[in-house]
Amino acid sequence: MTAKLIDGKKIAASVRQQVAAGVEARRLKGLRVPGLAVVLVGKDPASQVYVRNKRNACEKAGILSLSHDLPADTSQAALEALIDQLNENPTIDGILVQLPLPPHLDADPILLRIRPDKDVDGFHPYNLGRLVQRQPELRPCTPAGIIALLDSVDTPYRGQHAVIVGASNIVGRPMSMELLLRGATITVTHRFTPDLAHFVRDADIVIAAVGKPGLVKGEWIKPGATVIDVGINRMPDGTLNGDVEFEVARERAAYITPVPGGVGPMTIAMLLQNTLYAANEFHPG
Ligand code: NAP
Repeated sequence: MTAKLIDGKKIAASVRQQVAAGVEARRLKGLRVPGLAVVLVGKDPASQVYVRNKRNACEKAGILSLSHDLPADTSQAALEALIDQLNENPTIDGILVQLPLPPHLDADPILLRIRPDKDVDGFHPYNLGRLVQRQPELRPCTPAGIIALLDSVDTPYRGQHAVIVGASNIVGRPMSMELLLRGATITVTHRFTPDLAHFVRDADIVIAAVGKPGLVKGEWIKPGATVIDVGINRMPDGTLNGDVEFEVARERAAYITPVPGGVGPMTIAMLLQNTLYAANEFHPG
């Protein structure tokens, strides 16, 4: 069996189109367009690319994008003061602080300071707690994007064993809650899991989110499984690889995401969707 590719670019484009239509609908009703503030501290080249992509995507969807590019030596107090100001700004529906922050800054109090109704990354404990309690509001973008990919191939969820490789706050943990919400049976594996192969071999759905190229061997994939590869690893030759041994896995899986072009484009699409959601649900005026 050769797996069908799940085309994240195409699915993300359709989400972005729906967001653009939602923004236009607000405009036609005489409501202001949603606004997203994107805060970048320092000049990390990868972060600069991510931030530029997010700002461009906003503009294409008709969302107002407010840029705050701060010097690398910005103090904790100054960054917190900016968050306070954005929290109170009525034209801003979402606040995104690009991570990682420079080492002298502590990200946790910054993320806690973002008002939950403007937390479009979905990282605030309030929003994670809503998801845990089966009442999601602003959902973490990457796991929400993965659900959209799984929905696109009519994943049944109930009765399926989903194995998540990696347990980070931004991917693995919220991913487990998204899948549990839909009725899948969940295993979360991590650094201390002794026999990763044992779990992956039994998985109907594999979500790999570690950041180690080839960690998930293709031969472990159960025939007919759905494989979602979140990993983004820059190889010595400059190409990008995921965490799954793609060529072998695609001969066993029913569906698989490519890297790049799978999960990556979905994360930005869901950020836009969250910004529109925050405007409609929490700041309708
Ligand atoms: P992270 O914070 O470094 O977390 C990695 C997780 O993997 C941790 O929970 C770690 O365990 C676990 N881990 C380490 N070695 C393992 C092993 N041998 N077996 C199983 N689990 C293991 O990374 P992240 O932010 O979640 O990102 C993971 C990858 O996804 C990266 O390549 C990142 O670039 C990519 N990513 C892509 C997108 C996208 O939009 N496509 C979005 C986010 C992240 P411990 O908790 O014990 O350390």
